[in-house]
Amino acid sequence: MLLARLLDPLLSLLLPDRCAGCGRLGALLCDECRHRLVVYDGDLPRIADQLTGVRIAYVFEGPLRHALHQLKYHRKRRVARPLGALMAAHLRANPLPCDALIPVPLHPERLKERGFNQAELLAREVAAATGAPLIVGPLVRLRATKQQALLDVAGRIENVADAFMWKGPAPPARIVLVDDVLTTGATVNACAAALRAGGAREVSALALARSRGRAP
Ligand SMILES: [Zn+2]
Repeated sequence: MLLARLLDPLLSLLLPDRCAGCGRLGALLCDECRHRLVVYDGDLPRIADQLTGVRIAYVFEGPLRHALHQLKYHRKRRVARPLGALMAAHLRANPLPCDALIPVPLHPERLKERGFNQAELLAREVAAATGAPLIVGPLVRLRATKQQALLDVAGRIENVADAFMWKGPAPPARIVLVDDVLTTGATVNACAAALRAGGAREVSALALARSRGRAP
């Protein structure tokens, strides 16, 4: 992870950027792909009783889906920069009560496997662009949960219930959770429950994307 962090700026000097959406040389996310992004205007998740507000920037399809795939599975950490900037722009246009940003944590085993937490990389960009403080560490994932994508709605709620805990001094009053993709909302809702149990007063969620036509 440290090596990747050191190498990344060096590589970006040596290798020209490729668009994470379509692969063409130039920018990390080219203008054409940016124009093809679809703003999310669908339903918000119903499993969100612990959340004050939910913001979802884009529909999870097309260039955005490709770009996120590049970030998560091809470990192109730099892709977090344009994607995080898009999330920051969405948050500025659709504000949430926010004293601090907290990324949805990965279980330590998953973190070791991937080498980084994509939600944290995105949250860092949002923090840098908005000036909101970022808190990483005290919100922990206690269990290595099954992949939510493999489960139905009831399974997803059960899978993440009590999977998170706040281990630290009381968090700021108003927290915005940051995640890459939001589907049922079960994960951010479970994080919000842990934060509220830890002392947070209001918890909201900001996600980069959500699929259209998924289960509520
Ligand atoms: Zn492109």
